[in-house]
Amino acid sequence: MDSLPTSATNGLGFAADTATEPHARLNFDLDVDLCVIGAGLAGLSVALEAARAGLSVAVLESGRIGWGASGHNLGTVMPGYGVPIADLIDRVGLDHASALWALTREGMEIVRARAADEAMPDLALSDGALEVSNVDIGDRLVERLQTLGVDFGSEVEGWATDKVRDVLRTNRYFHGIYYPTAFQIDGRGYLHGVERLARRAGARIFEETPVVEIDFSGIRKRIFTPSARLRASDIVLAGSVHLGAPSRRIAETLLPVWRAAVLTAPLGGRLADAVGFAGSITDTGGVDHYRIVGGDRLLWASGETTFEVAPQRLERIVRRRIRTVFPQLDEVAIDRSFSAAVGVTVHGMPQIGELRPGLWVASGFGRNGLATTAIAARLIVRGLTHADERVRLFAPFDLVWAGGRIGRIVGQGVYLAAREGALAAGTLARYRERTIARSRIKSEQAEIKREERRTRLEQLRAAERSSAAARRPVPPPSE
Ligand SMILES: Cc1cc2nc3c(=O)[nH]c(=O)nc-3n(C[C@H](O)[C@H](O)[C@H](O)COP(=O)(O)OP(=O)(O)OC[C@H]3O[C@@H](n4cnc5c(N)ncnc54)[C@H](O)[C@@H]3O)c2cc1C
Repeated sequence: MDSLPTSATNGLGFAADTATEPHARLNFDLDVDLCVIGAGLAGLSVALEAARAGLSVAVLESGRIGWGASGHNLGTVMPGYGVPIADLIDRVGLDHASALWALTREGMEIVRARAADEAMPDLALSDGALEVSNVDIGDRLVERLQTLGVDFGSEVEGWATDKVRDVLRTNRYFHGIYYPTAFQIDGRGYLHGVERLARRAGARIFEETPVVEIDFSGIRKRIFTPSARLRASDIVLAGSVHLGAPSRRIAETLLPVWRAAVLTAPLGGRLADAVGFAGSITDTGGVDHYRIVGGDRLLWASGETTFEVAPQRLERIVRRRIRTVFPQLDEVAIDRSFSAAVGVTVHGMPQIGELRPGLWVASGFGRNGLATTAIAARLIVRGLTHADERVRLFAPFDLVWAGGRIGRIVGQGVYLAAREGALAAGTLARYRERTIARSRIKSEQAEIKREERRTRLEQLRAAERSSAAARRPVPPPSE
């Protein structure tokens, strides 16, 4: 594979490996108001909000910033959570679900405002996202549009199948929902932008500093790393599936789900012939998520596993998906591929809140981490500094054990079944569409034949009438 320029300004709107100056390791003891464990999107967003609120903040990161999911996402900023809207409403009721949904819209605005900061140049912000259905159930679309547009006050537009296929030349999609206010950015560029803003606001960030133990007792909590100790009034656990030793109980409430993505080589004009939509595209089955970057490349994520698998295998899965959805693209060359693990909860909602006095959690963001980490950070810091109660909107979503190894095996089965279910439903929908098209052609042909028969009959009758008229004896002329 060719290597790509490693900066956010490479013109692609996507930088998988932006190099940054390493932050020091923590090797001295420290006393702070807030200790954040984990420097992904969640941890850095909390650090930024807290430092701006005037707290002294230390962020401890076991590896390098952005090595995980936060440095390897597709940069799509959309409203919503990883749980179907209908399930959310069933669980907490319409008003509560609507308030939760509004929070993700607020999260989007926070990201948009930050993306406009001069600390984040060249994020290649582009507008609009399209969620396409791989089944032809138009009445469900109307129902969802009603919930999103009327009940939740989101800006959405329903697209009929023809309109979707005008821009995405594949028979795999039917109708779609267009989100005009959704947008995409260079995800890694954004992460490092948040890091810069947090540092500027006074947060201290330490890399290669794993937290190995926490003593929660006492008003001031003690945090242990291999090389130093910290004391803090509050702790935010933002380690996602990597948290490990400091709180196994919390780490075990997350199912690790690896998602793979590829960046194709330039595809030339054939890409524009296949994909005529500039924003992000996701499907309702949750199988594929992609967008065009750098003018003629595809950035495409697909394939989920609850156990880490070889990158080559994941790359094969994604290539197969591209070929299946857009056979006209044929074989595409891959410039870069990567995978990362996201944390998924049993109920599908993120874990945001205070677990016990002074101990907060911000994790379980699944595939929708950009807007949700932004709002999670704001709610936690407001809860901490202003006793803002909005964070309690997430209270109904408890920390539920994800089932350990057995949970991962079952999870894999569920993912496969859901994916297969979505694919099978898509196959069925396309079969139905072909059958309907075939029977329409047949009935049109039958109608043409009937018309021809009618015309022939009329011609015969007309011929008979004129020959009968010719045979009729001519009356003798009257005298
Ligand atoms: C392929 C892919 C595409 C995606 N696309 C999108 C997208 O388009 N839009 C979107 O909104 N979301 C997307 N996501 C999801 C999004 O990236 C995640 O939801 C988000 O990054 C989660 O952030 P996080 O901070 O919770 O976790 P992470 O990024 O995993 O960060 C956790 C950090 O905590 C550190 N840590 C853990 N334990 C400790 C410890 N004990 N001591 C010190 N440090 C510790 C880890 O080293 C890690 O750096 C995508 C994800 C993937 C994998």
